[in-house]
Amino acid sequence: MKLATIGVGNAGSKIVDRMLEFESRTDRNLCQHVHAINTARTDLAKPDYIPEERRILIGDTNQKAKGHGVGGDVEVGAEVASADIEEIRRAFDDIEIHEVDAMLVVAGLGGGTGSGGGPVVIDALQEMYDEPVYGLGVLPGEFEGGRPALNAARSLQSFVTKVDNFIGFDNDAWRAREQTIEEGYEQMNRELAARLVTLLAAGETDDSEVAENAMDSSDIIRTLDTGGVSTIGYAATQVDNEAGEGLLDRWSGDQTTQQDDGSNATKIQGLVRRAVNSRLTVPAEISSADRVLVVVSGPPSEFSRKGIESARQWLEQEADTVEVLVGDDPRKQSPQLAAAVLLSNVTETPRIEEIQNQAVDAQEKIAEQEAVREEEINDLITDENDDLDPVV
Ligand code: GDP
Repeated sequence: MKLATIGVGNAGSKIVDRMLEFESRTDRNLCQHVHAINTARTDLAKPDYIPEERRILIGDTNQKAKGHGVGGDVEVGAEVASADIEEIRRAFDDIEIHEVDAMLVVAGLGGGTGSGGGPVVIDALQEMYDEPVYGLGVLPGEFEGGRPALNAARSLQSFVTKVDNFIGFDNDAWRAREQTIEEGYEQMNRELAARLVTLLAAGETDDSEVAENAMDSSDIIRTLDTGGVSTIGYAATQVDNEAGEGLLDRWSGDQTTQQDDGSNATKIQGLVRRAVNSRLTVPAEISSADRVLVVVSGPPSEFSRKGIESARQWLEQEADTVEVLVGDDPRKQSPQLAAAVLLSNVTETPRIEEIQNQAVDAQEKIAEQEAVREEEINDLITDENDDLDPVV
């Protein structure tokens, strides 16, 4: 599949940057078009791979932002994006729509710019183009506190209702205790990029006449067509890749059958199981998935029709759905065999419920504090018997 990928806010832009890095490292070509949109000038300077001319600063004339970000205020994030929507739309006019199959809007939901601005950006894309618009949203860690949880719970509602499918990433599930927060983010962004790109880049080159089980973009779109919240699992293994061997030699006539031996089948089946049982981008009950898609990516010499078929049968039972697609994505030069599993429209995701509870508590506390504060200010400036009047 080919994408127009838009990172909104700091986390969104960093993740898109890592996707581009992974693509260039693995010789893929998923993101045909990219943009980073931010309210903070310093954050916009950070990406290594997003071209300078694709970075859009919004809200620089807004009194509350002025190029320094929105201080985690989701309302200001939305306000600033709406005020600069014409500039954003002009940038999206450049999208060569015949070159992309879908759009992906990436944002951290706990802050202000991505959380508030992301849904505004999605609206613009939905109005401008008929192609599906997907969202990728990062759920904040519990340790960040009530305000990020409140931003995330509210933004999640907007994202999920506006996009064609929402892929979640849970920072809590991916946090390693021994790392600093920044180191942790860096590693999470790389892990997430590997999953997204391995999954979504399938079918980006038309190798379908070579690989009989090739996955293509219409399979991915169909799986994501459920709406709702989705999650991704992943596993990879190193392979001895004699890349010079030639794709066609391996896949012509009877040789295919010879290569499709038991050991490849076992390897593929084991890899798919590992991917499904791996840490998902958002932990979820597998059997609550509506549809499932698996991309097995690597050198075609490692593929096995038998392995794919048994993985599909196993998954049908595991996910308790007949809507399971398993296919391959030939990468002749790849030193790895990887399986990326998309569980679409999972309805049992405990972390989302936790965030909602944390958000409700935070909202109540904020309202209480506001009421108390008003009273306290009043007490402070009023004399004991209320004898004094203000000047004007
Ligand atoms: P924004 O620029 O106002 O949208 O805010 P940020 O993107 O800086 O942060 C929003 C949320 O994203 C934070 O509350 C964190 O939960 C998360 N976050 C920030 N940076 C990263 C990152 O690099 N990776 C990941 N996975 N999460 C991040």
